[in-house]
Amino acid sequence: MKYAGYSKQNPPIHFLEEELRNREYEIALLKEIGDAVSSELSLEKVFRLVAERARTLVQAETLLIPIINTECTHYSYRAGVGKNVDEIVGEALPLNSGICGWVWHHKRPWWRGVLAELDESEKTKWEHEAGNVIVVPLIGKRHFLGGIAGINKAGGGDFTKRDLDLLTMFASQVSVAIENATLFEESERAKLKAEQYHLELKNLNKELAEANTKLKHMALHDPLTELPNRTLVLERLQQCILATKRENKPFAILMMDLNRFKEVNDTLGHDVGDELLKCVSTRIQTVLREIDTFGRLGGDEFIFIIPDADVDGALLVSNRLMAVLKPLFEIGDYHLYVEASFGIAVCPQHGTDVSTLLKRTDVAMYIAKRAHCDYFVYDPAEDLNSPQRLTQLTELRNAVNENRLELFFQPKKYLPTGNVIGVEALSRWPYHGNYILPSEFIPAMEQTGLIRPFTEWVLDTALCQLSEWRRSGFPISMAVNLSMYNLRDPQLPKMLSELIQKWEIEKGSLILELTESAVFQDSGHMLETLTRFESMGVGLSIDDFGTGYSSLSYLKKLPIREIKIDQSFVHDMTTDKDDAIIVHSTIDLAHNLGMSVVAEGVESQEILDHLLELDCDIAQGNHISQAQPPGPCLDFIKEHIG
Ligand code: C2E
Ligand code: MG
Ligand code: MG
Repeated sequence: MKYAGYSKQNPPIHFLEEELRNREYEIALLKEIGDAVSSELSLEKVFRLVAERARTLVQAETLLIPIINTECTHYSYRAGVGKNVDEIVGEALPLNSGICGWVWHHKRPWWRGVLAELDESEKTKWEHEAGNVIVVPLIGKRHFLGGIAGINKAGGGDFTKRDLDLLTMFASQVSVAIENATLFEESERAKLKAEQYHLELKNLNKELAEANTKLKHMALHDPLTELPNRTLVLERLQQCILATKRENKPFAILMMDLNRFKEVNDTLGHDVGDELLKCVSTRIQTVLREIDTFGRLGGDEFIFIIPDADVDGALLVSNRLMAVLKPLFEIGDYHLYVEASFGIAVCPQHGTDVSTLLKRTDVAMYIAKRAHCDYFVYDPAEDLNSPQRLTQLTELRNAVNENRLELFFQPKKYLPTGNVIGVEALSRWPYHGNYILPSEFIPAMEQTGLIRPFTEWVLDTALCQLSEWRRSGFPISMAVNLSMYNLRDPQLPKMLSELIQKWEIEKGSLILELTESAVFQDSGHMLETLTRFESMGVGLSIDDFGTGYSSLSYLKKLPIREIKIDQSFVHDMTTDKDDAIIVHSTIDLAHNLGMSVVAEGVESQEILDHLLELDCDIAQGNHISQAQPPGPCLDFIKEHIG
C-alpha cells in the first residue's frame, strides 16, 4: 500500500474510502485464511496456503516459511511461493544465520523500522537488506515455531509498518493452525515410526524364533545326515521305555554298523565316505515308518528305535533294511556295495533302562560284526561275547559259507505196508572230529541271520539228493525242516520255487516241516505263505505236534496235510497211559480232519506195534533207522522200498 504524495494526518476523502475498502479486503482475507488453514491438518498444505495468502497480503515478490526443527538446532524453509523458491525451499540453515536468526534470537519481527533500534555495528550488518525483508515470528501455544518471511516488495520499495502489522496479525492467526498441523504431522510420523518399529520388532522376533528352532535342531541332529543325534535318540529311547511301562507293549532297538566303511574313507576319501553316509540314510528312511526313530550315533554307526516291535518285528525291520541297502550306491564315479551288521535288543525283554538297553544292543552288534553276520539278537542266556563263543560263531559262518555242513537222512516207514516212503533231512556240523547236532547251532544261526544262507543250502542239498534218488527209481519223499525265521523271510518262496525248478522236483515229493510255534506266530501272513507253498506242490507237515498250543481245528484252516506227533508222547506211550491216550486221540482227530499222522521217535518194536494198532500212518525213529549219511541211508531205502 502506498501513501506517496499525501500527508498521513490529512488524507483526501476518496483516499480514506479506498483505505477502508482495503481494510475490509484485508480483514476478509485474514478471516478466509483463518478458516482455510484451521480446517487443514496436512502440514504441507497449511504451509502452502499460508505462504500464498501471506504473499498476497504483503505483496511480496517471494514469501518463505522458515520453521525451526524440533531439536532447535537449525531452521529450514518448509514452503515458499514466488521467485527462486525452488532453490531455497528445503534448505537448512544454522539457527543464528541471517535475519531469521535475528528474529529467533529476539523473538521479535523484523522490518525496516527495527534498524533504528540497533547499535551501529548491527545496523551496518543488516542495513542493505533491511527494507527488502520482513520476518514475523510464528509463535504457537507451546512452541516457538519459526516465522513468515517476505522478500522484496512487489513493484519495488520497502515493506511498511502496515505490512508488518498485517503480517503479525496474520501470523498470530495461523500459528495455532501451523502448530496443530505440526503436532498432527509429528504424531503421524511417530505413529508410522511406532508401526515400523513394531513391524521390525515382529520381524526380529520371527528371526529370533527361527534362529532358536535352528539352534535346537542343530543341538539335536547330526549335521551331516540331518538325522537325530545321540542326545535326541536317548530322549526318544527314554520316552519309549516309559510308553512300554505304561502300555505294556515291547519296542525294539537296532544298532547298525556299516561293514568296511573305514576302507571307503581310507581309499576313496572322506568326501566319498560322507556322501555315502548321506545316501545310506536317505535310502533307509524310505522303508521306515513315521513313528520309528532313525538316528546317527557317530561314524558309520546308526540306531533305530522301532515302537510296537518284538524280536520278530525287529528281524522284519532288519531284513527290510538289508534289502534296501542291497542295490549299489552311486557316489560320483564310484559304485559302492554296502553291507551292514545289526545288533538287536528288545525292551522289556532285554532291559528296561536306557543304558542297559544301549549296552546290550551294542554287545549284540559287536557280536554280529565280529562274527561277520547280518545281525545278532542279544541273548542273556549265553555269553556269546566270550572269545571261544565268538570263534565258534565265526567258524559256523565259515562252515555255512563254505558248504561244510552235512545232511543226514532218516527214513520214514509207511506202517500198513512196512515200506520206506520218505526221508527227513537232518543237518549236522562236522566240528573237530565230531558232529554237532542242530539244537546246538540252529539257535545261533537264527540269532545271526545265518539261517537264511543255511536253509538255502539245506534245501538245495536235500532237493539235489531227492532228485538223484527219484531218478534212480526210488519214489520217496523228502522232508526238510524250516525255522520260524525262514517263514518270515519274504525271499523264501522265490528261493524255494527256483530250487524246485532247478532240481525238477515233482509235486508232493517235497514236504516242509514246520513247528507248531512257527505256524502260530503270525497267523495273518501264515495262511498266505503256506497257501503259496501248497500251490508249488509242496506238502506241509506240523512237526513236534503236541508240544505247542495249536489245535487241530486251527490247523485245519491251513493247507496242512500231515502232523508229526512229538517223540516225547511216542517214547512213553507203551508205559504211560496218558501219553497213549494223547497219541490215540490225536491220530483219530487228524484222520477225521483228513490229515495223515507220523509218529517220530519210535525206539522199539513194541511202540511200532502199538502204533499200527492205533492206525498210525507213518513211523520214524531209531528203531527203524537212525539219521545217516546219504550212502547208508540209500542202502536202507533199497532194502525197504518194497
Ligand atoms: P525234528 O525235526 O523233530 O527231528 C527229529 C529229531 O529226533 C532228530 O534230531 C532226530 O535225530 C531225532 N530222532 C529220530 N529218531 C529218534 C529216536 O528214536 N529217539 C530219539 N531220542 N531221537 C530221535 P536232530 O537231528 O538232532 O534234530 C533236532 C531238531 O533240529 C529237529 O527236530 C529239527 O527241528 C531241527 N533240525 C534238524 N535239521 C534241521 C534243518 O536242516 N533245519 C532246521 N531248521 N531245523 C533242523
Ligand atoms: Mg522234523
Ligand atoms: Mg520232530
